[in-house]
Amino acid sequence: MNIVFAAAEVAPFSKAGGLADVAGSLPSALQRQGLSCQVISPLYGSVDRVHHRIEAADIKGKVLLGKKTVPYVIFHSKPSGEDETQYWFVSNPTLFDRDGIYTDATGEGYADNNQRFFFFQLVILDLISRKILSPDILHCNDHHTGLLPLLTKSLPQLRSVFTIHNFLYHGHFSDADKALLPEGIRNKLTPTQWDNYSALLEAITWSDAVNTVSPGYARELMAGENVDEHSLSIIRNRPDGILGILNGIDVNYWNPELDDLLPCNYSPTDRHGKKKNKRALLEKLELQADVDAPLFGSISRLVENKGFALIFESIEDFLADGAAFVFLGSGDPVIAMQLQDLLKKYPAQLAFYDGFNEKLAHLIEAGSDFFLMPSRVEPCGLNQLYSLQYGTIPIVNKTGGLGDSVEQWSAGQGTGFVFEPYLAIELRKSIELALKVFDDKEEWDRLISRAMEKDFSWAVSAKQYIELYTSWK
Ligand code: ADP
Repeated sequence: MNIVFAAAEVAPFSKAGGLADVAGSLPSALQRQGLSCQVISPLYGSVDRVHHRIEAADIKGKVLLGKKTVPYVIFHSKPSGEDETQYWFVSNPTLFDRDGIYTDATGEGYADNNQRFFFFQLVILDLISRKILSPDILHCNDHHTGLLPLLTKSLPQLRSVFTIHNFLYHGHFSDADKALLPEGIRNKLTPTQWDNYSALLEAITWSDAVNTVSPGYARELMAGENVDEHSLSIIRNRPDGILGILNGIDVNYWNPELDDLLPCNYSPTDRHGKKKNKRALLEKLELQADVDAPLFGSISRLVENKGFALIFESIEDFLADGAAFVFLGSGDPVIAMQLQDLLKKYPAQLAFYDGFNEKLAHLIEAGSDFFLMPSRVEPCGLNQLYSLQYGTIPIVNKTGGLGDSVEQWSAGQGTGFVFEPYLAIELRKSIELALKVFDDKEEWDRLISRAMEKDFSWAVSAKQYIELYTSWK
């Protein structure tokens, strides 16, 4: 069975968030289970072609974007090691040769994003029509590839699967944008109540199967939580609903035993290295906090949804009690400013790295005691899974994938601290309880062992995707 996996970002080539991690690890897991997988994404200016051995593939073509003919060139990266997964890249310097994936250096979304991702999808359609790609299953991800199920609907023997990584982002487009799409599909698009169109809702309408990245989030979407009425009616039009499949993680890359981005490796049975990483993290960020004081880590896009408002309500009390905090993230300038203000006030105990830093992300996962992830909405979340692997105890709101992956501590049980409802007071109580357990060294040790023993590899979830792919046969 041939799977073509289409995504706007794919780790390690390009990454803005969790979509890249999934696009970079699920196809390899499927390949290991006997499927043939090809992954296709745009070739951004920031992709390191030399490091990843990306070369032109001698495939060129043109697509019609409205009245304009736009050329493309296909690149590919040779499979490395035992992984036979093929990675393809769509190049068009005018549209993709920029450092950002979706936004410029100031965080502003590119004005031509709709045009860029329409082009990307039309190129995939062209490659399929030319039989350069011959998928049995076209696996689309988020709104950037949301029009492909409709674009490919009339192709025989092709099934489309659409994965919702985040329902908050619809990929809205206007009538002017619509004019860029092939005439044959324009009258099939359904306007939203805001007089525009939603690539996400088109995908839900036209895909052969729709899933999201955790059972909890699937239930929330189908129950209409944080979903407007128009979207809900489209979700409910699907007789098969939305399936929830929890994301897995790449256990070769996010593994404290093998992680070559860490100063010191450690394992569930020998955790001495964890404290050395904590020391290294404190030193790197020039924090003066005691190495035995509780250290809270956070790695996150800076958006309201990730729960910063809740953190800000009580953080100063915990700082006053001697706790230390490390934040890594970029995004909303207002949240960044609030973090900068805290940094000015507590330079010895709080660090804030404003930007994207893969190496620091690994060190925070390894060096922190707790991982703060009080998201208001979280389709799956990957950092809490990485945290569990690294023995860094997650403190999470019970929502979506967070509720599916972290089990509330109670003496001798559980893997983290899970609060609800989404209120600052509940987060505060959860942190207070977490600190009590942290002070009980034996209980704390057992909690870390349980967390590190959890298996979040793709093995189980990849099988669920295979079941989905074969459910029509
Ligand atoms: P989302 O997809 O909503 O951003 P996830 O938790 O699913 O959230 O995935 C986020 C991914 O992006 C994780 O791999 C996380 O480590 C990474 N990440 C987010 N912000 C940064 C950052 N500033 N620097 C490095 N990695 C980051």
